[in-house]
Amino acid sequence: MIASINRTKEILSKYDLYAKKGFGQNFLIDSNIIDKIVASANIDKKTGVIEIGPGLGALTEKLCINAKKVLCYEIDEDMVKVLHGELKFENLCIKNVDFLKASLEEDFHYFDDCERVVVTSNLPYYITTPIIFKLLETNVNISSMLFMVQKEVALRLTGKPNTKDYNSLSVLINYKAEAKLLFNVGRNCFLPSPDVESAIIMLSGIKSDYTPKNEANFLEFIRNLFCMRRKTVLNNISGKYPVSKDYIRGILNKASLKESVRAEELDLKKIIELYQLFGFDK
Ligand code: SAM
Repeated sequence: MIASINRTKEILSKYDLYAKKGFGQNFLIDSNIIDKIVASANIDKKTGVIEIGPGLGALTEKLCINAKKVLCYEIDEDMVKVLHGELKFENLCIKNVDFLKASLEEDFHYFDDCERVVVTSNLPYYITTPIIFKLLETNVNISSMLFMVQKEVALRLTGKPNTKDYNSLSVLINYKAEAKLLFNVGRNCFLPSPDVESAIIMLSGIKSDYTPKNEANFLEFIRNLFCMRRKTVLNNISGKYPVSKDYIRGILNKASLKESVRAEELDLKKIIELYQLFGFDK
């Protein structure tokens, strides 16, 4: 099956289906983009691949040809029927489940004979963030993750300090992995074409050099620092924690930061330093 607009329309009509907006269904119809995704993910015959939302299988087919094993999670049973009907690969396992409810730790045994496991997905945009966080928080060993996301989200996920795209999500990603925007993808590469531009991002090196005693406290601290974007760190912290403004000023001074500093100016290293100085890691 070579992805193309005609082929996609043909499959939808053969199975009497339409793209369901509620499941974020925008099917890739550009085979060049699919080839670029597979090439960027460094997949070979020793690699296991997790695909979230295979849809009609345009990317899945190429993954099966290039990888040792492919494990797909698809919420829509209509799509699963198409996948079983169109893709005949022995190295393909299709699970008809909501990925957010799937037990990755259990399912991971499927990859016992693979040298490494990567994730490759044209994500349903309505749940991009929870899917990425589920993957970042899992205990299984994933080497890299390549996602198609909305361009705007890609910019935030890969945002750097002192830019308009930098926010708590950029810090959270940076804490867990290295994020890179690989290339942009236009609306006309999909059927139906989405309202927004898309981009491919790669998350790799999925681990952190810093291990807080209580990760939940640390993640909350990051969110609190950015809770009111235009406010200073001083005001955001004093609004969220039972500490005086003078105490906060003292900590900022120790960290060699101005009283007027905003979270968007802080890189991950500085945020960790502040968190430790505040003594919130309990
Ligand atoms: N991979 C296909 C492609 O590139 O043409 C389809 C991508 S489409 C943007 C997203 C896919 O994710 C759809 O097939 C949709 O049914 C599926 N999906 C949506 N929510 C899901 C969930 N919670 N768990 C698993 N799959 C989901």
